[in-house]
Amino acid sequence: MNSVQFSSERELPSHLNLFQQMADAVYLLDPKTSNVLWCNRIAYEELGYSEDEVLNHSVLSLQKDVKGAPQWSEIATVIRSKNVFTFVGRHLHKDGYEIPVEVNTTHFWVDGHEYFLSVARNISNRVAFEKDFQERDGRIRYALHEVSDGLWEWELESDYVFFSPQLKKMLGYGPDEMTPHVDTWKSKVHPDDVEKVITILSDHIKGKRPAYQAEYRLRNRNGHYIWVHDAGKVCERNDENQPTHVIGMVRNISDHKKVQTQLESLAHEDVLTGLPNRRHGERSAQKALKKACDKKVPLTLAVIDLDFFKRINDLYGHAKGDEILVFIAQLLNSARPKKSFLYRWGGEEFVLILPSYNLEAVQEVLEGVHQVIAQADWTGLGVEPVTLSIGAVECSQANVEFNECFKLADLAVYQAKANGRNQTVLA
Ligand code: GH3
Ligand code: MG
Ligand code: MG
Repeated sequence: MNSVQFSSERELPSHLNLFQQMADAVYLLDPKTSNVLWCNRIAYEELGYSEDEVLNHSVLSLQKDVKGAPQWSEIATVIRSKNVFTFVGRHLHKDGYEIPVEVNTTHFWVDGHEYFLSVARNISNRVAFEKDFQERDGRIRYALHEVSDGLWEWELESDYVFFSPQLKKMLGYGPDEMTPHVDTWKSKVHPDDVEKVITILSDHIKGKRPAYQAEYRLRNRNGHYIWVHDAGKVCERNDENQPTHVIGMVRNISDHKKVQTQLESLAHEDVLTGLPNRRHGERSAQKALKKACDKKVPLTLAVIDLDFFKRINDLYGHAKGDEILVFIAQLLNSARPKKSFLYRWGGEEFVLILPSYNLEAVQEVLEGVHQVIAQADWTGLGVEPVTLSIGAVECSQANVEFNECFKLADLAVYQAKANGRNQTVLA
Protein backbone atom coordinates (compact mmCIF):
# COMPACT_ATOMS: atom_id res chain seq x y z
CA MET A 1 0.00 0.00 0.00
CA ASN A 2 1.45 3.37 -0.99
CA SER A 3 0.29 6.88 -0.28
CA VAL A 4 -1.38 7.36 -3.67
CA GLN A 5 -3.32 4.16 -3.33
CA PHE A 6 -4.18 5.01 0.20
CA SER A 7 -5.58 8.47 -0.50
CA SER A 8 -7.69 7.13 -3.33
CA GLU A 9 -9.04 4.29 -1.18
CA ARG A 10 -9.69 6.24 1.96
CA GLU A 11 -11.00 9.71 2.43
CA LEU A 12 -9.16 11.04 5.45
CA PRO A 13 -11.26 13.22 7.73
CA SER A 14 -10.40 16.85 7.01
CA HIS A 15 -10.54 17.85 10.69
CA LEU A 16 -7.29 15.89 11.18
CA ASN A 17 -5.69 19.19 10.18
CA LEU A 18 -6.69 20.58 13.54
CA PHE A 19 -4.06 18.27 15.03
CA GLN A 20 -1.37 20.28 13.25
CA GLN A 21 -1.66 22.82 16.04
CA MET A 22 -1.13 20.26 18.81
CA ALA A 23 1.91 20.14 21.05
CA ASP A 24 1.83 16.32 21.10
CA ALA A 25 2.67 14.09 18.16
CA VAL A 26 -0.39 12.47 16.56
CA TYR A 27 -0.21 9.39 14.34
CA LEU A 28 -3.03 7.75 12.49
CA LEU A 29 -2.01 4.14 12.00
CA ASP A 30 -3.08 1.24 9.92
CA PRO A 31 -3.51 -1.56 12.46
CA LYS A 32 -2.70 -4.26 9.95
CA THR A 33 0.61 -2.93 8.65
CA SER A 34 1.61 -0.55 11.46
CA ASN A 35 2.14 2.09 8.78
CA VAL A 36 1.64 5.77 9.51
CA LEU A 37 -1.32 6.90 7.43
CA TRP A 38 -1.18 10.44 8.63
CA CYS A 39 0.71 12.41 11.26
CA ASN A 40 0.90 15.99 12.39
CA ARG A 41 3.92 18.21 11.94
CA ILE A 42 5.47 17.74 15.36
CA ALA A 43 5.35 13.96 14.88
CA TYR A 44 8.08 14.03 12.22
CA GLU A 45 9.82 17.31 13.13
CA GLU A 46 10.52 16.24 16.67
CA LEU A 47 12.23 13.10 15.39
CA GLY A 48 14.25 15.02 12.81
CA TYR A 49 12.43 13.60 9.76
CA SER A 50 10.56 15.09 6.86
CA GLU A 51 6.88 14.24 6.44
CA ASP A 52 7.65 11.89 3.54
CA GLU A 53 10.14 9.95 5.59
CA VAL A 54 7.43 9.09 8.10
CA LEU A 55 4.23 8.77 6.11
CA ASN A 56 3.58 5.24 4.87
CA HIS A 57 6.47 3.89 6.84
CA SER A 58 5.97 1.53 9.72
CA VAL A 59 5.61 3.29 13.05
CA LEU A 60 7.96 0.63 14.38
CA SER A 61 10.84 2.34 12.59
CA LEU A 62 10.38 5.23 15.00
CA GLN A 63 10.33 2.95 18.03
CA LYS A 64 13.19 1.77 20.11
CA ASP A 65 11.26 -0.85 22.08
CA VAL A 66 8.95 -2.53 19.52
CA LYS A 67 10.48 -4.66 16.79
CA GLY A 68 8.97 -6.76 14.00
CA ALA A 69 5.51 -7.75 12.84
CA PRO A 70 4.81 -10.43 15.49
CA GLN A 71 5.32 -7.95 18.31
CA TRP A 72 3.20 -5.38 16.50
CA SER A 73 0.38 -7.86 16.12
CA GLU A 74 0.49 -8.58 19.86
CA ILE A 75 0.37 -4.86 20.60
CA ALA A 76 -2.49 -4.37 18.13
CA THR A 77 -4.48 -7.05 19.98
CA VAL A 78 -3.94 -5.28 23.30
CA ILE A 79 -4.89 -1.89 21.76
CA ARG A 80 -8.11 -3.37 20.44
CA SER A 81 -8.94 -4.81 23.86
CA LYS A 82 -8.77 -1.46 25.67
CA ASN A 83 -10.46 1.88 25.38
CA VAL A 84 -7.12 3.62 25.72
CA PHE A 85 -3.81 1.83 25.61
CA THR A 86 -1.03 3.70 27.36
CA PHE A 87 2.53 2.80 26.73
CA VAL A 88 5.70 4.46 27.95
CA GLY A 89 8.62 3.89 25.61
CA ARG A 90 11.33 5.50 23.55
CA HIS A 91 11.19 7.09 20.13
CA LEU A 92 14.33 7.23 18.06
CA HIS A 93 15.51 10.51 16.64
CA LYS A 94 16.93 10.37 13.12
CA ASP A 95 20.31 11.26 14.68
CA GLY A 96 20.18 8.16 16.82
CA TYR A 97 19.30 9.49 20.24
CA GLU A 98 16.27 8.41 22.21
CA ILE A 99 13.30 10.51 23.26
CA PRO A 100 11.18 9.16 26.12
CA VAL A 101 7.50 9.21 25.19
CA GLU A 102 4.17 8.32 26.69
CA VAL A 103 1.85 7.07 23.96
CA ASN A 104 -1.92 6.86 24.33
CA THR A 105 -3.59 4.86 21.56
CA THR A 106 -7.27 4.47 20.76
CA HIS A 107 -8.86 2.40 18.01
CA PHE A 108 -11.93 3.13 15.90
CA TRP A 109 -13.68 2.25 12.66
CA VAL A 110 -14.75 4.62 9.88
CA ASP A 111 -16.50 3.37 6.73
CA GLY A 112 -15.45 -0.21 7.33
CA HIS A 113 -11.81 0.72 7.92
CA GLU A 114 -10.08 0.25 11.24
CA TYR A 115 -7.67 2.90 12.54
CA PHE A 116 -5.39 3.40 15.51
CA LEU A 117 -4.91 6.94 16.70
CA SER A 118 -1.75 7.42 18.76
CA VAL A 119 -0.89 10.57 20.65
CA ALA A 120 2.75 10.60 21.73
CA ARG A 121 3.93 13.02 24.36
CA ASN A 122 7.59 13.83 24.77
CA ILE A 123 8.26 13.21 28.47
CA SER A 124 11.97 14.08 28.49
CA ASN A 125 11.37 16.84 31.01
CA ARG A 126 9.35 14.58 33.29
CA VAL A 127 11.93 11.81 33.08
CA ALA A 128 14.74 14.28 33.80
CA PHE A 129 12.77 15.60 36.74
CA GLU A 130 12.14 12.11 38.11
CA LYS A 131 15.79 11.22 37.75
CA ASP A 132 16.76 14.40 39.49
CA PHE A 133 14.18 13.69 42.20
CA GLN A 134 15.52 10.20 42.74
CA GLU A 135 19.03 11.52 43.02
CA ARG A 136 17.81 14.19 45.37
CA ASP A 137 15.95 11.50 47.34
CA GLY A 138 19.25 9.66 47.60
CA ARG A 139 20.93 12.80 48.81
CA ILE A 140 18.18 13.38 51.38
CA ARG A 141 18.64 9.84 52.67
CA TYR A 142 22.34 10.45 52.85
CA ALA A 143 21.76 13.68 54.80
CA LEU A 144 19.39 11.85 57.16
CA HIS A 145 22.08 9.26 57.76
CA GLU A 146 24.41 12.04 58.76
CA VAL A 147 22.09 13.84 61.18
CA SER A 148 20.60 10.74 62.74
CA ASP A 149 22.09 7.87 64.67
CA GLY A 150 20.21 5.41 62.54
CA LEU A 151 17.53 4.91 59.92
CA TRP A 152 15.01 2.13 59.50
CA GLU A 153 12.50 1.21 56.88
CA TRP A 154 9.67 -1.17 57.55
CA GLU A 155 7.77 -3.07 54.90
CA LEU A 156 4.43 -3.64 56.59
CA GLU A 157 3.25 -6.67 54.65
CA SER A 158 6.32 -8.81 55.27
CA ASP A 159 7.41 -7.09 58.52
CA TYR A 160 10.84 -6.84 56.93
CA VAL A 161 12.78 -3.99 58.50
CA PHE A 162 15.93 -2.48 57.07
CA PHE A 163 18.16 -1.33 59.94
CA SER A 164 20.88 1.05 58.78
CA PRO A 165 24.47 0.19 59.71
CA GLN A 166 24.55 3.28 61.97
CA LEU A 167 21.50 2.06 63.87
CA LYS A 168 23.17 -1.31 64.42
CA LYS A 169 26.35 0.44 65.48
CA MET A 170 24.41 2.60 67.95
CA LEU A 171 23.21 -0.62 69.61
CA GLY A 172 26.64 -2.21 69.47
CA TYR A 173 25.98 -4.61 66.58
CA GLY A 174 27.95 -5.22 63.39
CA PRO A 175 26.53 -4.50 59.92
CA ASP A 176 25.64 -8.17 59.35
CA GLU A 177 23.86 -8.65 62.67
CA MET A 178 20.26 -8.00 63.74
CA THR A 179 17.69 -10.03 61.79
CA PRO A 180 15.84 -7.58 59.53
CA HIS A 181 12.45 -8.15 61.10
CA VAL A 182 10.18 -5.91 63.14
CA ASP A 183 10.34 -8.38 66.05
CA THR A 184 14.09 -7.71 66.35
CA TRP A 185 13.28 -4.10 67.16
CA LYS A 186 10.31 -4.91 69.40
CA SER A 187 12.38 -7.33 71.46
CA LYS A 188 14.85 -4.56 72.25
CA VAL A 189 12.34 -1.97 73.46
CA HIS A 190 12.21 -1.67 77.26
CA PRO A 191 9.28 -3.74 78.59
CA ASP A 192 7.88 -0.65 80.36
CA ASP A 193 7.92 1.35 77.11
CA VAL A 194 6.89 -1.21 74.51
CA GLU A 195 3.12 -0.83 74.84
CA LYS A 196 3.23 2.96 74.64
CA VAL A 197 5.57 2.98 71.64
CA ILE A 198 3.62 0.38 69.67
CA THR A 199 0.38 2.25 70.30
CA ILE A 200 1.86 5.49 68.96
CA LEU A 201 3.24 3.69 65.92
CA SER A 202 0.05 1.83 65.09
CA ASP A 203 -2.00 5.00 65.64
CA HIS A 204 0.10 6.64 62.95
CA ILE A 205 -0.26 3.71 60.56
CA LYS A 206 -4.03 3.78 61.12
CA GLY A 207 -4.00 7.49 60.30
CA LYS A 208 -4.88 8.65 63.82
CA ARG A 209 -1.60 10.56 64.15
CA PRO A 210 0.12 12.63 61.45
CA ALA A 211 3.50 11.10 62.35
CA TYR A 212 5.12 8.58 64.66
CA GLN A 213 7.27 10.08 67.37
CA ALA A 214 8.38 8.53 70.65
CA GLU A 215 11.07 8.63 73.31
CA TYR A 216 11.85 5.27 74.82
CA ARG A 217 14.60 2.91 75.95
CA LEU A 218 16.30 0.43 73.60
CA ARG A 219 18.48 -2.41 74.83
CA ASN A 220 21.96 -2.50 73.38
CA ARG A 221 24.21 -5.47 72.89
CA ASN A 222 25.55 -5.27 76.45
CA GLY A 223 22.04 -5.46 77.84
CA HIS A 224 22.07 -1.80 78.89
CA TYR A 225 19.30 0.52 77.89
CA ILE A 226 19.90 3.69 75.93
CA TRP A 227 17.31 6.45 75.54
CA VAL A 228 16.31 7.15 71.96
CA HIS A 229 14.14 9.62 70.11
CA ASP A 230 12.44 7.81 67.26
CA ALA A 231 10.41 9.52 64.54
CA GLY A 232 8.87 8.06 61.44
CA LYS A 233 6.25 8.40 58.78
CA VAL A 234 4.39 6.28 56.25
CA CYS A 235 6.34 6.82 53.02
CA GLU A 236 4.52 4.56 50.58
CA ARG A 237 0.94 3.44 50.03
CA ASN A 238 -0.70 0.94 47.70
CA ASP A 239 -3.47 1.62 45.16
CA GLU A 240 -6.05 1.35 47.95
CA ASN A 241 -4.13 4.07 49.82
CA GLN A 242 -3.14 1.58 52.52
CA PRO A 243 0.33 2.20 54.05
CA THR A 244 2.94 -0.24 52.78
CA HIS A 245 6.21 1.27 54.03
CA VAL A 246 7.21 3.33 57.04
CA ILE A 247 10.54 5.08 57.27
CA GLY A 248 12.07 6.38 60.48
CA MET A 249 15.04 8.01 62.08
CA VAL A 250 16.50 7.29 65.52
CA ARG A 251 18.66 9.53 67.69
CA ASN A 252 20.50 8.46 70.81
CA ILE A 253 19.37 10.92 73.48
CA SER A 254 20.92 9.18 76.49
CA ASP A 255 23.24 12.09 77.28
CA HIS A 256 20.40 14.55 76.95
CA LYS A 257 18.25 12.39 79.26
CA LYS A 258 21.05 12.18 81.79
CA VAL A 259 21.37 15.97 81.91
CA GLN A 260 17.59 16.26 82.17
CA THR A 261 17.49 13.84 85.11
CA GLN A 262 20.35 15.69 86.76
CA LEU A 263 18.56 19.01 86.30
CA GLU A 264 15.36 17.56 87.70
CA SER A 265 17.13 16.19 90.75
CA LEU A 266 19.02 19.46 91.15
CA ALA A 267 15.73 21.30 91.20
CA HIS A 268 14.65 19.05 94.07
CA GLU A 269 17.93 19.00 95.91
CA ASP A 270 19.35 21.41 98.44
CA VAL A 271 22.73 22.46 97.10
CA LEU A 272 24.45 22.79 100.49
CA THR A 273 23.38 19.62 102.28
CA GLY A 274 22.32 17.42 99.35
CA LEU A 275 19.02 16.69 101.11
CA PRO A 276 15.79 17.02 99.17
CA ASN A 277 14.56 20.59 99.41
CA ARG A 278 11.30 22.21 100.41
CA ARG A 279 9.96 22.22 96.83
CA HIS A 280 10.26 18.45 96.74
CA GLY A 281 9.22 18.11 100.40
CA GLU A 282 5.90 19.89 100.13
CA ARG A 283 4.82 17.73 97.24
CA SER A 284 5.87 14.41 98.72
CA ALA A 285 4.66 15.31 102.22
CA GLN A 286 1.23 16.08 100.81
CA LYS A 287 1.22 12.76 98.98
CA ALA A 288 2.34 10.86 102.08
CA LEU A 289 -0.28 12.61 104.20
CA LYS A 290 -3.07 11.78 101.77
CA LYS A 291 -1.98 8.15 101.67
CA ALA A 292 -1.89 7.97 105.49
CA CYS A 293 -5.36 9.56 105.78
CA ASP A 294 -6.76 7.21 103.11
CA LYS A 295 -5.28 4.17 104.79
CA LYS A 296 -6.14 5.53 108.23
CA VAL A 297 -2.60 5.03 109.47
CA PRO A 298 -0.69 7.60 111.56
CA LEU A 299 1.81 10.06 110.07
CA THR A 300 3.85 12.49 112.09
CA LEU A 301 5.50 15.70 110.94
CA ALA A 302 8.45 17.15 112.87
CA VAL A 303 9.92 20.61 112.32
CA ILE A 304 13.52 20.88 113.52
CA ASP A 305 15.10 24.29 114.13
CA LEU A 306 18.71 24.82 115.24
CA ASP A 307 19.16 26.76 118.42
CA PHE A 308 20.98 30.10 118.43
CA PHE A 309 22.38 29.48 115.00
CA LYS A 310 22.75 33.17 114.25
CA ARG A 311 25.28 33.26 117.06
CA ILE A 312 27.37 30.54 115.34
CA ASN A 313 27.55 32.66 112.21
CA ASP A 314 28.39 35.72 114.23
CA LEU A 315 31.13 33.95 116.22
CA TYR A 316 32.71 31.72 113.58
CA GLY A 317 31.61 33.15 110.28
CA HIS A 318 29.11 32.04 107.63
CA ALA A 319 31.42 29.40 106.12
CA LYS A 320 31.70 27.62 109.46
CA GLY A 321 27.92 27.95 109.80
CA ASP A 322 27.55 26.16 106.45
CA GLU A 323 29.90 23.41 107.55
CA ILE A 324 27.85 22.88 110.69
CA LEU A 325 24.62 22.77 108.69
CA VAL A 326 26.08 20.00 106.51
CA PHE A 327 27.30 18.14 109.59
CA ILE A 328 23.89 18.32 111.27
CA ALA A 329 22.14 17.27 108.05
CA GLN A 330 24.32 14.14 107.98
CA LEU A 331 23.64 13.41 111.66
CA LEU A 332 19.88 13.84 111.21
CA ASN A 333 19.98 11.60 108.18
CA SER A 334 21.74 8.87 110.12
CA ALA A 335 19.45 9.21 113.14
CA ARG A 336 16.10 9.08 111.32
CA PRO A 337 14.14 5.86 110.83
CA LYS A 338 14.57 4.14 107.47
CA LYS A 339 11.07 4.82 106.20
CA SER A 340 11.03 8.49 107.08
CA PHE A 341 11.78 11.49 104.85
CA LEU A 342 14.11 14.34 105.75
CA TYR A 343 14.19 17.71 104.01
CA ARG A 344 16.14 20.91 104.39
CA TRP A 345 13.21 23.24 104.56
CA GLY A 346 15.22 26.43 104.41
CA GLY A 347 17.80 28.34 106.53
CA GLU A 348 18.57 26.27 109.60
CA GLU A 349 15.28 24.42 109.55
CA PHE A 350 14.70 20.77 108.67
CA VAL A 351 11.47 18.79 108.31
CA LEU A 352 11.10 15.11 109.10
CA ILE A 353 8.05 13.16 107.84
CA LEU A 354 7.41 9.90 109.66
CA PRO A 355 4.75 7.74 107.99
CA SER A 356 3.13 5.16 110.30
CA TYR A 357 4.55 6.85 113.43
CA ASN A 358 2.13 8.13 116.03
CA LEU A 359 3.20 10.72 118.61
CA GLU A 360 4.13 8.09 121.15
CA ALA A 361 6.44 6.26 118.76
CA VAL A 362 7.84 9.52 117.45
CA GLN A 363 8.79 10.77 120.91
CA GLU A 364 11.35 8.01 121.23
CA VAL A 365 12.73 8.66 117.72
CA LEU A 366 13.13 12.37 118.42
CA GLU A 367 14.81 11.75 121.77
CA GLY A 368 17.27 9.62 119.83
CA VAL A 369 17.85 12.51 117.41
CA HIS A 370 18.73 14.90 120.26
CA GLN A 371 21.12 12.30 121.62
CA VAL A 372 22.85 11.63 118.28
CA ILE A 373 23.50 15.36 117.86
CA ALA A 374 24.73 15.77 121.42
CA GLN A 375 26.95 12.72 121.35
CA ALA A 376 28.47 13.41 117.94
CA ASP A 377 32.14 14.23 117.68
CA TRP A 378 32.13 18.02 117.33
CA THR A 379 35.86 18.41 117.98
CA GLY A 380 36.74 18.47 114.27
CA LEU A 381 34.49 21.46 113.79
CA GLY A 382 35.96 23.33 116.74
CA VAL A 383 32.60 24.45 118.11
CA GLU A 384 30.40 23.49 121.03
CA PRO A 385 27.62 21.03 120.09
CA VAL A 386 24.64 22.82 118.57
CA THR A 387 21.25 21.86 119.95
CA LEU A 388 17.85 21.49 118.31
CA SER A 389 14.31 22.52 119.09
CA ILE A 390 11.71 20.18 117.61
CA GLY A 391 7.95 20.52 117.24
CA ALA A 392 5.98 17.46 116.21
CA VAL A 393 2.37 16.90 115.24
CA GLU A 394 0.49 13.78 114.25
CA CYS A 395 -1.15 14.91 111.01
CA SER A 396 -3.31 11.98 110.03
CA GLN A 397 -5.02 12.03 113.42
CA ALA A 398 -5.74 15.73 113.14
CA ASN A 399 -6.96 14.91 109.60
CA VAL A 400 -6.12 18.37 108.31
CA GLU A 401 -4.27 19.82 105.37
CA PHE A 402 -0.51 19.65 105.27
CA ASN A 403 -0.16 23.43 105.67
CA GLU A 404 -2.28 23.32 108.81
CA CYS A 405 -0.15 20.51 110.21
CA PHE A 406 2.97 22.47 109.43
CA LYS A 407 1.67 25.52 111.29
CA LEU A 408 0.89 23.38 114.34
CA ALA A 409 4.39 21.85 114.28
CA ASP A 410 5.93 25.29 113.88
CA LEU A 411 3.97 26.52 116.92
CA ALA A 412 5.32 23.56 118.86
CA VAL A 413 8.85 24.65 117.86
CA TYR A 414 8.18 28.10 119.32
CA GLN A 415 6.97 26.40 122.44
CA ALA A 416 10.21 24.37 122.61
CA LYS A 417 12.19 27.58 122.20
CA ALA A 418 10.16 29.24 124.93
CA ASN A 419 10.66 26.22 127.19
CA GLY A 420 14.44 26.71 126.98
CA ARG A 421 15.35 25.05 123.63
CA ASN A 422 17.16 21.68 123.12
CA GLN A 423 13.92 19.74 123.43
CA THR A 424 10.90 18.35 121.63
CA VAL A 425 7.34 19.59 122.06
CA LEU A 426 4.52 17.37 120.81
CA ALA A 427 1.52 19.31 119.54
P1 GH3 B 1 16.65 30.36 117.55
O1 GH3 B 1 17.22 29.47 118.58
O2 GH3 B 1 15.62 31.28 118.14
O3 GH3 B 1 16.18 29.64 116.38
O4 GH3 B 1 17.85 31.30 117.15
P2 GH3 B 1 18.47 31.40 115.71
O5 GH3 B 1 19.65 32.30 115.79
O6 GH3 B 1 18.72 30.06 115.19
O7 GH3 B 1 17.27 31.98 114.96
P3 GH3 B 1 17.08 32.92 113.74
O8 GH3 B 1 15.93 32.45 112.92
O9 GH3 B 1 16.96 34.30 114.29
O10 GH3 B 1 18.32 32.81 112.89
C1 GH3 B 1 18.58 31.79 112.00
C2 GH3 B 1 19.93 32.02 111.44
O11 GH3 B 1 20.39 30.95 110.68
C3 GH3 B 1 19.96 33.24 110.54
C4 GH3 B 1 21.08 32.95 109.63
O12 GH3 B 1 22.24 33.65 109.99
C5 GH3 B 1 21.34 31.49 109.84
N1 GH3 B 1 21.25 30.80 108.57
C6 GH3 B 1 20.14 30.52 107.85
N2 GH3 B 1 20.48 29.88 106.72
C7 GH3 B 1 21.85 29.75 106.75
C8 GH3 B 1 22.77 29.16 105.86
O13 GH3 B 1 22.45 28.61 104.79
N3 GH3 B 1 24.07 29.18 106.17
C9 GH3 B 1 24.51 29.78 107.34
N4 GH3 B 1 25.80 29.78 107.60
N5 GH3 B 1 23.63 30.35 108.17
C10 GH3 B 1 22.33 30.33 107.91
MG1 MG C 1 14.85 29.32 112.21
MG1 MG D 1 17.10 28.74 114.84
